[in-house]
Amino acid sequence: LDFGERKGQAERMLGLMDVFLKNDPISLQKDILHHVEYTVARSRFSFDDFEAYQALAHSVRDRLIERWHDTLIHFKKEDPKRVYFLSLEFLMGRSLSNIVINLGIRDQFADALSQLGFDFEVLAEQEGDACLGNGGLARLSACQMDSLATLDYPAVGYGLRYQYGLFRQVIVDGFQHEQPDYWLNFGNPWEIERVHITYPVKFYGTVTDEFLNGEKCKVWVPGEMVEAVAYDNPIPGYGTRNTINLRLWAAKPSDQHDMESFNTGDYVDAVVNRQRAESISSILYPDDRSYQGKELRLKQQYFFVSASVQDIFRRFKDTHKKFDEFPEKVLSCMFHVSISAEAYVETPRIGLVALQLNDTHPSLAIAEVMRVLLDEEHLSWHRAWDIICKIFSFTTHTVSPEGLEKIPVDLLGNLLPRHLQIIYDINFNFVEELKKMIGLDYDRLTRMSIVEEGAVKRRWIVVSNPSLCALISKWLGTEAWIRDIDLLIGLRDYATNAELHQEWKMVKKVNKIRLAEYIEAMSGLKVSLDAMFDVQTKRIHEYKRQLLNILGIIHRYDCIKNMDKNDRKKVVPRVCIIGGKAAPGYEIAKKIIKLCHVVAERINNDNDIGDLLKLVFIPDYNVSVAEMVIPGADLSQHLSTAGHEASGTGSMKFLMNGCLLLATADGSTIEMVEEIGQDNMFLFGAKANEVVALRKKGPTLKVPLQFSRVVRMIRDGHFGFEDYFKSLCDKIEGTSDYFLLGADFMSYLEAQAAADKAFVDEERWTKMSILSAAGSGRFSSDRTIQEYAENTWDIQPCSFFFFLFFFFFF
Ligand code: PLP
Repeated sequence: LDFGERKGQAERMLGLMDVFLKNDPISLQKDILHHVEYTVARSRFSFDDFEAYQALAHSVRDRLIERWHDTLIHFKKEDPKRVYFLSLEFLMGRSLSNIVINLGIRDQFADALSQLGFDFEVLAEQEGDACLGNGGLARLSACQMDSLATLDYPAVGYGLRYQYGLFRQVIVDGFQHEQPDYWLNFGNPWEIERVHITYPVKFYGTVTDEFLNGEKCKVWVPGEMVEAVAYDNPIPGYGTRNTINLRLWAAKPSDQHDMESFNTGDYVDAVVNRQRAESISSILYPDDRSYQGKELRLKQQYFFVSASVQDIFRRFKDTHKKFDEFPEKVLSCMFHVSISAEAYVETPRIGLVALQLNDTHPSLAIAEVMRVLLDEEHLSWHRAWDIICKIFSFTTHTVSPEGLEKIPVDLLGNLLPRHLQIIYDINFNFVEELKKMIGLDYDRLTRMSIVEEGAVKRRWIVVSNPSLCALISKWLGTEAWIRDIDLLIGLRDYATNAELHQEWKMVKKVNKIRLAEYIEAMSGLKVSLDAMFDVQTKRIHEYKRQLLNILGIIHRYDCIKNMDKNDRKKVVPRVCIIGGKAAPGYEIAKKIIKLCHVVAERINNDNDIGDLLKLVFIPDYNVSVAEMVIPGADLSQHLSTAGHEASGTGSMKFLMNGCLLLATADGSTIEMVEEIGQDNMFLFGAKANEVVALRKKGPTLKVPLQFSRVVRMIRDGHFGFEDYFKSLCDKIEGTSDYFLLGADFMSYLEAQAAADKAFVDEERWTKMSILSAAGSGRFSSDRTIQEYAENTWDIQPCSFFFFLFFFFFF
């Protein structure tokens, strides 16, 4: 169509429909009923809560899609530098509440629903969690997508659309059992299947040398092809129309998957083989820190990386067609001036794309982009590597070597032969550079070599704690802090204000009631609201030291048992809450869960103890459970042995909800001390620089009697299952106590005593709680994203106003 025809066509289309869907109560009710009748296919005179949720979700989705389209058209028109966020995991949780809050239409929908006889909150509960991730790393990527959208950055997220998310944790007799999480069972209204956006992904095969225009080049002849299909998930920003895309890839057999079997007539085997292709995106690996040497895992990584890189190149070429006639210039355009020497000097960071790798999982992207630049775009090694160095950034989520992935050379060479060659070449150049810097120190060179020689926030707080948000907005006189989190610091001015103290305590109480009701519904246990709610929820790991917490609880129990009546009056009642999943093959972590249950059984049924101490294990900890637990916590524990937690993100959420921290000086806690001060938290334990020396002491390291006593109680069968717990006790006594539970025990008990003392002084506790929330702004993902955008990716916000909509067509 020429311009005149296109304009006429667009005007005709605009005349046929409203420009935007309306949000008044009648329009919303009509929309919901329309979806009941035509999308859910139920009679509008008879539908239940789940069907109402589905219709509601589709009505919300329509409004989401409007904004999403506008954003995509706007980005296409402006063609700004984009950031691509590659992550193998996104822990999104539930979407409905977050979306209506970000779109600013929650109250309108709640009104419309109540006129139809439904309760918004009840319908929101119908949604299942999208658990496409393990823990902090995945939660962070979900928060960062939200922040990228909120801050108007032109971003795209890429990941895998697993059919089975993180397993559901079911506890039977105190033992963890895993059940598959087929989260798509009831459909997923938030995703849009893009059947026409597919890319072939190659595996196996051989690499041959061929000549092109007299130049030798490498050609990879694959042995297997799989198709990647895009599923788009629009992510709305808060208080902006900007809605970005999270594109998740699903695997399906390619037409060329295995031609040979069809040709030989083995039809049934050929179909079965084709179905195997789908297994690539079928399951999320449930180990959050060790994935060594699994072929399927490597296939997953390359599958999503290859599809994403093809999509990034395709998008670039879509808007830069004029360079198609100048193949040698395609790439100088592709990464813009970043690869031209002159421009490099003037504007070193300018380019059209930035790729952010969330941990090592997508790091094959480096070899893949290198392969495309060398073998498909025929750039020289030097030019290609120069581009790589400018476009990639990487975030690490672990500080321990065992957390870094290692891929056996033979596995990689078999699955991705060309990539292995490229990695060898990268490593060769890297080691040459190193030699220039450190000389011929072979030990160090071997350690640093990439190839081992020898053997092989969402606006989360608004969703989870609306009462606290309303209170903060009231005192700060604005809701702007929800977008501009630095404003939270203003709460410091009211830290001793008696009126705020009253209101603050009331909000905490409401959240504690909600949590207490949840505990009772889940376990039948009634807990006292006057008790301190003391929470440790996170993945179960030896280094996170849930065991230290349980030993502390046993010690507390033992002390109470041995107290007389008068002393008991002084005890600060506690409800200790522990929750988290153990990786299915992680035996020690599973034993910790069982220990928690047997200790809880003993304490909770001891009438002599009553409300002074309770212990609860919350099963199936996920984002929705976190939304319930975190706002109701008074104290939260982050006990990792110093030097082991790269960051830790749970603590940030507790802090923001006015919860006090009892923690080691590890990961992000170190920065928290800077923000809220040591006096407003309970720090304990060896510092990172002391840990090595303590470990060296080995058997000569003295452990306190209290520690030996509680371990002995477990060994002697005080809680039953002594044979089962023997290996657990062996792990923490003598030379085996790698995570230093014994060495830190006294200091831990002292910190706990300090927390008790502070809790009975209500005024002091409330002040500390307000100051914790006030100092939490630095830990918002908005801030991280802003810093990345300015310092690492060099991208600008690409905001738009919806009245521009009419001009997009022309
Ligand atoms: N799991 C869930 C469901 C979370 O929401 C979070 C953090 O927000 C984590 C795990 C990570 O917790 P931590 O950083 O304390 O290990």
